[in-house]
Amino acid sequence: MEYAEHVVDLVGNTPLVKLNSLTEGLQPLVLAKVEYLNPGGSVKDRIALRMVEAAEASGELRPGGTIVEPTSGNTGVGLAMVAQRKGYHCVFVCPDKVSEDKQNVLKAYGARVVVCPTAVPPDHPDSYYSVSDRLVGEIENAWKPNQYANPENPASHYHSTGPEIWQQTGGRITHFVAGVGTGGTISGTGKYLKEVSQGRVKVIGADPEGSVYSGGSGRPYLVEGVGEDFWPGTYDTAIADEIIAVSDAESFAVTRKLALEEALLVGGSCGMAAAAALRLAKRLGPDDVVVVLLPDGGRGYLGKVFNDQWMSAYGFLSPDSSGATVGEVL
Ligand code: PMP
Repeated sequence: MEYAEHVVDLVGNTPLVKLNSLTEGLQPLVLAKVEYLNPGGSVKDRIALRMVEAAEASGELRPGGTIVEPTSGNTGVGLAMVAQRKGYHCVFVCPDKVSEDKQNVLKAYGARVVVCPTAVPPDHPDSYYSVSDRLVGEIENAWKPNQYANPENPASHYHSTGPEIWQQTGGRITHFVAGVGTGGTISGTGKYLKEVSQGRVKVIGADPEGSVYSGGSGRPYLVEGVGEDFWPGTYDTAIADEIIAVSDAESFAVTRKLALEEALLVGGSCGMAAAAALRLAKRLGPDDVVVVLLPDGGRGYLGKVFNDQWMSAYGFLSPDSSGATVGEVL
């Protein structure tokens, strides 16, 4: 018999799959690392597991304790899954713009969800940052993973994502492309790949236009999970050789193409990373091997990227708007 003791044991070891239709006419081999095949449905399962285990080892998280984190999405699912396995409670604090569906996913795993107003600045006492800090103080035996500052976030990628990619490509990877949110993925994976290849592997970040990583000031964009308006401690500025800025229009167009042409139903930040990888691949040769990491699946975005009304409302489907028409971008 071959089985896992628990779903948590299935985190990581995600496959690489070749992009075919999207890479037509391009010379390099472009491979996607499909992170939605993690049991919680995203790359964030990796950091959840490592952050929790490190906090247990250091004594910050004690038996029966409560994990408190401001998150509405993938990190919450990963933490809730690990918490259920290990007998911890979870309280997630999120702004009221987060869809009810996303809140219900967290509740389904047994987490408590505290909703805060979106329309207040981060230092306001009712902001979700302030409320999560207050709850950590009020709840007995509480621990806050703080994915934006926790060194175990990039460390999880240094110890899992990086070695997996190196092994899966037999050391033939030449370029690694990932979107940047907390920066954990690119910093940890990129550091490992550079070390093991003695600097040969180039690391390329993909960033929404307007975010700080590509020189913006934090101007709003619609793609979720990536880009920042501040520099998190988990982002190592020494790793990326290049940052490619991608517009919302292009990110969403490529996201739809991934589903339509590659049967990869993935989230908007995947389209963003893939758009950057394709732009990079145009200048590379037949011996190059590009690996692009796709962080999550598309089910959580059916009402947005995959909804024609939503796309039209933001001008992404209308040819006479400022947004690009889907299918026109590539
Ligand atoms: N895409 C999605 C959907 C995410 O949730 C995240 C995490 N914020 C990222 C990309 C970026 O990953 P990282 O935080 O490791 O930079």
